[in-house]
Amino acid sequence: MMNIATTSQRVVYLDHAATTALDPAVFAAMQPYFLEVPGNPSSIHQIGRSALQAIDDAREEVCTILGCSRREIIFTGGGSEADNLAIKGVALAQQQRGKGSHIITSAIEHHAVLDTAEYLQHVGFEVTLLPVDQHGLVQPDDLRAAIRPDTVLVSLMYANNETGVIQPIAELGAICRVHGVLFHTDAVQAAGSLSLTVDDLNVDLLSLAAHKFYGPKGMGLLYIRRGTPLLPQINGGGQERRRRAGTENTPGIIGLATALRLAAARRAWYVQHCATLRDQLLEGVLTRVPQTWLNGDRERRLPNNANIGFAGIDAESILLLLDQHGICASSGSACTSGSLDPSHVLLAMGRSPEDAGGSLRFTVGKDTTADDIAYVLETLPPIIAMLRGA
Ligand SMILES: *Cc1c(COP(=O)(O)O)cnc(C)c1O
Repeated sequence: MMNIATTSQRVVYLDHAATTALDPAVFAAMQPYFLEVPGNPSSIHQIGRSALQAIDDAREEVCTILGCSRREIIFTGGGSEADNLAIKGVALAQQQRGKGSHIITSAIEHHAVLDTAEYLQHVGFEVTLLPVDQHGLVQPDDLRAAIRPDTVLVSLMYANNETGVIQPIAELGAICRVHGVLFHTDAVQAAGSLSLTVDDLNVDLLSLAAHKFYGPKGMGLLYIRRGTPLLPQINGGGQERRRRAGTENTPGIIGLATALRLAAARRAWYVQHCATLRDQLLEGVLTRVPQTWLNGDRERRLPNNANIGFAGIDAESILLLLDQHGICASSGSACTSGSLDPSHVLLAMGRSPEDAGGSLRFTVGKDTTADDIAYVLETLPPIIAMLRGA
């Protein structure tokens, strides 16, 4: 439960897939780099060198967790930028080398990937969108069948932001490797719950966003395997080995690395904590509210995600009433809620527009309590009954 200024007396935040609150320990680690070490890491003097040293140390910390080397990390201004850099950067570099102009992604990707693929389509690329089954999973055989001699990149997400469904990334990556095709994964939702060891995942590129694991907003990274061709998308100075220009966000980089280290250290606890609360919520709703269902595979999903459908009701109406009781959930992704289009993810899983429009995402986090879940289980059933006119 959080204590923030609101019209409601109690706030239960169950929208951790949209963003998380900065961990106070992360804030404490960042603070000196706002106030005491203002140097530009490119400067020769001691204040600049201190900033550079801190960034080097942060990069080393990130490498320990991803199992990669320092030159394989590019710090970015968030997850969307990392996805854009991976997909445009590799696709355009490959095209320039005459390798082809076909890319493969899936129908359930985050818009940072889908819209980037669509942009590439406008500039002459061909894009294949892989389907998913009713559980939200990409079929490895569909990937095998889609790869062509002119395929230059495959981008498939590690875990979905709406349903939490986890793709078999290592298996999909192995298929790409056999065919000599570069493989990117958007791992933004996976951080904190799943392994990020890039060699085990068989990935060439991997995106992260700090604010999804209790780090600062506007801070992300792209892992890029040594030797992978990349055309920079922000030109200017020589930062990040000339692959992403602009003065480094020193506090942001320190914050990302600290948040990633803390997330790795508490991963076993976090997975258990979230799964316990998520299961209480899920079983509670499914048993107390008639005509409800879980969207996405029951087992192969992030431990903190319950995406629940409510037959015959518009999710926006539920959200508004929940909000009046201080409960923060989401319909679809944060980026598209507010728009009335049904979720492209649920539609791709074969749900009707009505069923997709009646689905809500609850995502618990490290500070969620059993008390919070009990409050939701008290509050939600009468809201649904009222909306159904019972
Ligand atoms: C949040 C999210 C992004 C975008 O990250 P930003 O840091 O908000 O730009 C991309 N992909 C997935 C799966 C996400 O959940």
